[in-house]
Amino acid sequence: MKYLLGVDLGGTNIQVALAERGGKILRSQKFSTEAATGRENVWRNILAGLETVLEQGLVPRDRLAGVGVCTAGFFDYYSRTIISSPNLPGWEGFPLEKRLSQELALPVLVENDANAAAYGEFIFGAGKGKRNMVNVTLGTGIGGGIIIEGEIYRGSGGFAGEIGHLPVLPGGPLCGCGRRGCLECLASGNAIAREGQAVIAGEARTILRDMVEDQEELTAYHVFEAAKDGDREAADIVAKAACYLGRALATVVNLLNPEIITLGGGMAAAGEIIFEPVQRCLKELSIQPAGEMVELLPAVLGEEAGVRGILTLVEQALFQVVNACKGY
Ligand SMILES: [Zn+2]
Repeated sequence: MKYLLGVDLGGTNIQVALAERGGKILRSQKFSTEAATGRENVWRNILAGLETVLEQGLVPRDRLAGVGVCTAGFFDYYSRTIISSPNLPGWEGFPLEKRLSQELALPVLVENDANAAAYGEFIFGAGKGKRNMVNVTLGTGIGGGIIIEGEIYRGSGGFAGEIGHLPVLPGGPLCGCGRRGCLECLASGNAIAREGQAVIAGEARTILRDMVEDQEELTAYHVFEAAKDGDREAADIVAKAACYLGRALATVVNLLNPEIITLGGGMAAAGEIIFEPVQRCLKELSIQPAGEMVELLPAVLGEEAGVRGILTLVEQALFQVVNACKGY
């Protein structure tokens, strides 16, 4: 039996998993990325995380077949380098795949984290048995991954699926990507928190003010909780964000006609309060029958989606495993 390591390199955490072929995870552990401390330190954290997971002795090192890494930011699939990553400062141009392969003396495969999460959800999660799906991760930012006919759709440079940067409001707020009015700066966790903080700073009556001591502590979670409790200001923020999200997803549906769209990430955990208005807006704005046939579902793999996806991708690359889902 050969074994594989999967790494999900995010702006906050590095998730490391040791798995058997076929995707069974033997051990999985999270480490702090400490992204702000710079690339050299993050690099040490990745290596230390791998060491920690391996030193349990579950698997002898000579039984390791390879390592898959999924990373935040824009990863150029063809030049195999990170082009830019707002959450990982200093990683621009870094040949992560080559350096890690030299360091570990093992084959390494790197993939964009949103693509890996979509693939994980497709193989093991809500997308099981489907052919065409889009996975959207609603967290502090908004990520997206597209699966077409059982394969990740990367586009001509490897940058397809950036749903968070679909322009939905001309002249809207400034986004981290440098453009204005992207979905991410209107409907992400950060955007909702920012709107909630603005309400607190204003005159309106709202329970948001009583939920935190300091305005800066307010997160999207508070806004969703307040909306569930009937707070009008909070409900307005959620309704607006859901509408932008529904609009962006209508664009996705009209363009790709997927069978399902899965919503994951911390915000999706808010449940019906976000799903219901997104669904309504999506149906209103998409063409029929594409809008009627698409199912909007919660993603089911949670934080493990990326690592499970990348483990499958590295296994397929190493062992030329034919994706059973493509055998329809
Ligand atoms: Zn943007």
